Amino acid sequence: MKTVFQQLSNPTPICKNCFNDITGLDIFSFVHRNPYVCRKCLNQYNPKFIHFKVDGVKALSLYDYDNYMKDLIYKLKGCFDYELKNSFLDMYKTELSLYYNGYTMIPAPSYIEDDKTRGFNHVIEIFKSLKLTLLEAFEKSEHFKQSDHNFKERKKIKNYLRLKENVVLPNKVLLVDDIFTTGSTMRTMISALKEHGVTNIKVLVLCKTQLIEKRKEN
Ligand SMILES: [Zn+2]
Repeated sequence: MKTVFQQLSNPTPICKNCFNDITGLDIFSFVHRNPYVCRKCLNQYNPKFIHFKVDGVKALSLYDYDNYMKDLIYKLKGCFDYELKNSFLDMYKTELSLYYNGYTMIPAPSYIEDDKTRGFNHVIEIFKSLKLTLLEAFEKSEHFKQSDHNFKERKKIKNYLRLKENVVLPNKVLLVDDIFTTGSTMRTMISALKEHGVTNIKVLVLCKTQLIEKRKEN
């Protein structure tokens, strides 16, 4: 049993997902070095590292969009469970930072009012730990919840998503988003960047749904 003083000076970390104590520091915990979630929760993260292309741009998806990940992202995004933000990338942040070294991170935007309600932008919070230069180059002019729309309607996102005025774009851009579904958001951003002369673009997303795999990628 720890004394109160011991607990205050060295509290047992608590899992940000299930709220159980993170105990039993073993080789698994050391190797996976994620102090945010317990081993039981971490075992359910399903990293896949899927490489794919979006309009000729190299893209990487880290996780399977399974029910577990869906629930976890919803907790952060929809239930404002801010504490979960670091649990997604923590195991890979060093390697990812090196891999994307020199790139400026541009997040897929949320509608500004949604960010205000939430108190934070979940995409920025997830990818912040990569410590890349952040540029919020795009804005979304209306609330546009992708899951509410069918495939054809989603394509209209280009009417709601645009580059902010007077943005100075860097040469190397890493576009980031939480979920890649139809790719219409990414395609809109890639096309706008290319129109403005950016040629070195990469894409990094947390999860990619299976939907896109059924379509022919060009
Ligand atoms: Zn847990």
